[in-house]
Amino acid sequence: MTSETVTTVPTADQIRRAPKVLLHDHLDGGLRPATVVELARETGYDGLPETDPEALGVWFREAADSGSLERYLETFSHTCAVMQTRDALVRVAAECAEDLAADGVVYAEVRYAPEQHLERGLSLEEVVEAVNEGFRLGERRAREAGHRIRVGALLTAMRHAARSLEIAELANRYRDLGVVGFDIAGAEAGYPPTRHLDAFEYLKRENNHFTIHAGEAFGLPSIWQALQWCGADRLGHGVRIIDDIHIGKDGAVELGRLAAYVRDKRVPLEMCPTSNLQTGAAPSYAEHPIGLLRKLRFRVTVNTDNRLMSGTSMSREFEHLVETFGYTLDDLQWFTVNGMKSAFLPFDERLAMINDVIKPGYAELKSEWLFQEASGKGL
Ligand SMILES: [Zn+2]
Repeated sequence: MTSETVTTVPTADQIRRAPKVLLHDHLDGGLRPATVVELARETGYDGLPETDPEALGVWFREAADSGSLERYLETFSHTCAVMQTRDALVRVAAECAEDLAADGVVYAEVRYAPEQHLERGLSLEEVVEAVNEGFRLGERRAREAGHRIRVGALLTAMRHAARSLEIAELANRYRDLGVVGFDIAGAEAGYPPTRHLDAFEYLKRENNHFTIHAGEAFGLPSIWQALQWCGADRLGHGVRIIDDIHIGKDGAVELGRLAAYVRDKRVPLEMCPTSNLQTGAAPSYAEHPIGLLRKLRFRVTVNTDNRLMSGTSMSREFEHLVETFGYTLDDLQWFTVNGMKSAFLPFDERLAMINDVIKPGYAELKSEWLFQEASGKGL
């Protein structure tokens, strides 16, 4: 037996135990179905389509799978509706950290739009403080359960709204208090990121970090604007960069100017395979651009987007990729190191995470074949 044969196909258990890094996960897209039901009862929200947790979980996945944008967006109206009180936000954030830790995630950046949690009188600051408190509580509980995780928050502004500068200022105010960066999200078509230039320019002047949802539903112009007009540090999804990569009849790959820029500058792509399938940004796992982009060594990272709506987790995303592309533990480590390199954490902390947590974690998994129960051969 050689290490090669063993590391070729990581088992589901190895994938779960492997240290993982998550940069693109929405707080309002990752609730436990049972928590949605309980919070709805506690806060008097009676708009849920199902009140049995299992049936509700299925409803969320089917609505996201339906191909109807209206139904997809409706799912978030329900999760946001039950996240309007301080206690609810603390609970959802704590459970988020616990669930990610139990799945083997060691570092996560979780995003949410504070402006969507003001319906019952909370201020923007109270929302941020409640979520931060929840993340710290979840980290503590995870530690007690034997898992280590660090969670940073990204504050999202909605593309169609006009509060991006205000939210960027909020992100800056809490930058040393658990908020690691800023993002804009929402419908791409008709709402170009350049509408929010004042927010991005403000953050640049403050030497702060931001990512932009771009190149998911909409094509190259959206990616180009996010990078060259707005100065994004990372791209949320970025799958449409594939439109600027041409494969000749002889198999030769040619990168257009924008794709070359993205690769040359090591611009991180926050790819979310299952979510992209649901929204139609990619037709299947096998045809998802991640396969080619990994081969071409773009700075690809793997993410969950909305765990509830997609019925997914970091382990499940990795499992799909292993199944489709035959990825090994080395590939999974590559994605994970890419994620950590691209995190909005100070450089020394990123390096320590890579060298002291991620690499030893994968080395441990890769060495397991050495200690498997004797197969009868002896030495
Ligand atoms: Zn997203």
